[in-house]
Amino acid sequence: MATGCTEDHSQHYCRVCRTKDSDHRASNCPTLRAICTAGRCIGYHQTSTERGLQIKQSGVMQPSASGAAGCGIYFAIRQNETERKAKQKGCMVTAEITMSKPKTVWRADSSNETYESLSAEGYDGAIVHGYWSGGEIVVYRPEQVRVLSVEDI
Ligand SMILES: [Zn+2]
Ligand SMILES: [Zn+2]
Repeated sequence: MATGCTEDHSQHYCRVCRTKDSDHRASNCPTLRAICTAGRCIGYHQTSTERGLQIKQSGVMQPSASGAAGCGIYFAIRQNETERKAKQKGCMVTAEITMSKPKTVWRADSSNETYESLSAEGYDGAIVHGYWSGGEIVVYRPEQVRVLSVEDI
């Protein structure tokens, strides 16, 4: 049983660490806690080859025009999770993300988040839950992202 889970099931699946019979909810996942404590983590973002080339040439990722947690730069925690998350495909961006205090939000009720609204609350990013494909890391400033590699896949 996962602490804090109100659903009626015998096993709780953590979508972040993929433990089938988890004792924690995804929002309390130790894997996420490790990411937050470190202040830096690696994220994966799949995009089109055209966008990938732009990112490679500029070394910069720009916030999206929209998204589950507002206009941000979205990452999966695992490379293979980008398969279901990406709207455009063909190119894998691996980046180091600087984020020390993410806000835990849920996909359905956080589309109005902005860097300003989060920083007013003392956060510098967000972790969005509620996807079968795993949690998403969102930051709002290009300076928080260091592109490590851009590869055609
Ligand atoms: Zn549960
Ligand atoms: Zn977990």
